[in-house]
Amino acid sequence: MHADVAALFGSSGPLARVLPAFEARPQQARMAQEVATALASGRHLLIEAGTGIGKSVAYLLPAILWATRPGPPPEERRVVVSTHTRALQEQLARKDLPLLQRALESSGVTFRYALLMGSENYLCAQRLQEMRLSSAHLPEARSGEIAEALSRHSRTAVSGLRSEIPFIVPEALWSRVRRDRDICLGARGPFWEDCLYRRDLVRAREADLLIVNHALFFLDLKTGGRILPPHAVVILDEAHRVEESVVSQLGFSVSDRSVARLLDETPAIVPGLAPRLRDAAAEFFEDVRRRAEGEKRGPVADGRAPDSPALLMRLREAGVFADRLRAPLLDLESTLEERARVASPDEAPAFLSLGARARDLRERLAALLEQRIPDSVYWVECDRHRRGAALHTAPIEVAHVLRKQLFEDGRTVVLTSATLAAAGSFAHVRRRLGVVAASEVVLGSPYDYEKQALLYLPASMPDPVGEPDEFSESVTATCRRLLRASGGGAFVLFTSYALLRRVHEALSSEPSLRDLELFRHEPGQASPILERFRMTRTGALLGTMTFWQGVDVPGEALRLVIITRLPFEVPGQPISEARAEAIRGRGGDPFNEDALPETILTFRQGFGRLIRSREDRGVVAVLDPRVTTRPYGPMFLESLPPCRRTESLQEAERFLRRLN
Ligand code: SF4
Repeated sequence: MHADVAALFGSSGPLARVLPAFEARPQQARMAQEVATALASGRHLLIEAGTGIGKSVAYLLPAILWATRPGPPPEERRVVVSTHTRALQEQLARKDLPLLQRALESSGVTFRYALLMGSENYLCAQRLQEMRLSSAHLPEARSGEIAEALSRHSRTAVSGLRSEIPFIVPEALWSRVRRDRDICLGARGPFWEDCLYRRDLVRAREADLLIVNHALFFLDLKTGGRILPPHAVVILDEAHRVEESVVSQLGFSVSDRSVARLLDETPAIVPGLAPRLRDAAAEFFEDVRRRAEGEKRGPVADGRAPDSPALLMRLREAGVFADRLRAPLLDLESTLEERARVASPDEAPAFLSLGARARDLRERLAALLEQRIPDSVYWVECDRHRRGAALHTAPIEVAHVLRKQLFEDGRTVVLTSATLAAAGSFAHVRRRLGVVAASEVVLGSPYDYEKQALLYLPASMPDPVGEPDEFSESVTATCRRLLRASGGGAFVLFTSYALLRRVHEALSSEPSLRDLELFRHEPGQASPILERFRMTRTGALLGTMTFWQGVDVPGEALRLVIITRLPFEVPGQPISEARAEAIRGRGGDPFNEDALPETILTFRQGFGRLIRSREDRGVVAVLDPRVTTRPYGPMFLESLPPCRRTESLQEAERFLRRLN
């Protein structure tokens, strides 16, 4: 089969026939060929595909041909494609796959595909019934009426998707009835038979190709394949986000909010029961918070914070806090179960599910406090802007889980992304994900970086660690000059809010920049400011880690990317700290084995924001002098596509002015 694949990407192939602007790209044809070979041989594939290759079509096409080949039963042909972002999921389902359907029609190839979206898009039968029990707490005036309509809809709907509901459900109400993975009881709950989400999963069994997100794919892996239909191949796109998805599926948390939510969604059944649990939770989480504050640890303490300005405290042993919620949660659970026994058949399942939620919370908290999950890290997190606290656990390393349950499980795995290799090697991703026996391919971008981009590396910047104040001033001064020359159209990428705020404050009061629109990224505000930035040519967006990857701003809106610091992870992050301890414990070197390649990958992602199409032009400025002064510096620079470099600020300014 694979001998034919490359021909399909030729200038007279079926893609060219349905796409008027089709451009034959050798890298795209090569990628398709590699994927076809992997599927035919059953050998896993790690494939880095530079920006602009058109990688989604390059893997979809061989996947379709493989999934529709005559002979084998569906479970031996079915392909699952998983992405991290909803944007890519939608692109595959709404643009690429319909296009491929048209392109392959004339060759007589037909296929069925299904899209399974993130939890927030599905109506949950359990939550809907729970909400109807506590109708006194409904979020809006017409909520009761809409809840009844939703209930009628859920009896006959073939899909749980929100977009299939024939009337508008206000956001506040939707947040009470949508599927929530922290609450979902799955087959353990009393609503499994009526579960609408399950109906979508059943329909997905008819598809040759299934589009899901990483969260769902790894939830399926965690539950031993009980969610997705059997499949022989998985293609993990945006594979650089796989590890974090696995960690978030295998880890869990309990916070003051989890308890408040259960109480808000439970009807007042026994006087005094809810206040007792509420008071116990307030006392318990306040105690946790006081201890964390007493430790005065966390990324904010040293002035460098990632996206969440939180205070963190590792819990290195079990039993640090007494489980004061156990008794009131047990009381609530048994009262709800008792209530279910005497309730009408219509109401009983909702009481049962609320009881099961109370039990779930109690068991999670016990597992956290007694540190029952082996090879995991435990910590407390407190938001600086509100009271309360959260207890978390996550696996320290996911490699052994993935090796056993994914790579040695009989299916073929294709991992792809624009950045998978660090300093030309896949060793890091292999180690972190537990990849075994895989082919490796790196395909460069078809863009002409020599012509399209200029890399500006200032000759004399102060060291960000040794001279932080001087560094901050120099960053501000350089940003001012570059932004003036570009007239906006800039991303300024930071690793901390502290430096971001200092630079933002200085630039906001700068008269020569008053024609620019400065956007300051605050936690939780990434999407709205990105939308506003896209609309203007004179915007400068000062952002932290969210903006280093996965953000696509093609065209003139982005012509300057300033990388203020190398994106080394902030010290004190529990998972990376525990991982470093584990590597050290094995006699390894956590910096060179782990932190450095990880930082190189993020750095490449940051650089990759600039050139998103053949027409894009611009400057990437790297203001961290460590790329040239430290022994590891060359590894960062060599990991970038070849492009012109300069140390001259004037040359960078001239390049930018020419774009105006
Ligand atoms: S399994 Fe139950 S809790 Fe989960 S989505 Fe379905 S109905 Fe809701």
